[in-house]
Amino acid sequence: MVKKPRLIIWVLTSKCNLACPHCYAAKFIGRDELNERQALRVVKSGAEAGIKHVGFTGGEVFLRKDALNLMRYASQLGMSTSVITNGSMLTEEVVRDLANIGVFAFLSLDGANKELVSIEEVQRLGDKICHIDPSLQVCVLGYRPEFRRKHLPRPSYEEMLQVHRALRGVGLKTVICQVPRGHIGPEGFLS
Ligand code: SF4
Repeated sequence: MVKKPRLIIWVLTSKCNLACPHCYAAKFIGRDELNERQALRVVKSGAEAGIKHVGFTGGEVFLRKDALNLMRYASQLGMSTSVITNGSMLTEEVVRDLANIGVFAFLSLDGANKELVSIEEVQRLGDKICHIDPSLQVCVLGYRPEFRRKHLPRPSYEEMLQVHRALRGVGLKTVICQVPRGHIGPEGFLS
């Protein structure tokens, strides 16, 4: 018997204000997007179909002005919600709204690799996030040869540990760094 889906992962938009060389969402650019009315209908249909969680992702979700409305509506209909964002559009007001709605927010730093970003830049970015809210969860994905620039080596465990320490060092409380054999969790241990 086919099980009913309990979860929607929704690429709300493929548009982004960044241009990471490995971006998987770039291949969707130019495709039509749902307008707000259509998107609200999708949320309602999901709730009626028994969906328990809606995960919003992109592109950069907050380029859509209706993103918070959609999350609020999903929450009002009894579903839990999460969002993956690059963080560049977050303001105190948006973070407050996310907290009020109860959205799990994941900040995604994709493509950490010393060839693309220095440890000082990672620190500066971490510092900005920390000033918004030190408890925001930050997940760091290493840039790998499977992405577009095939000549770049995957960051080693030691390099990602350095990224982890740099972000923890600026005061962020929940940092998760992907490494070749798993991830370094918030406490700084491999699992
Ligand atoms: S931040 Fe994410 S969505 Fe935006 S370009 Fe980079 S990988 Fe793509």
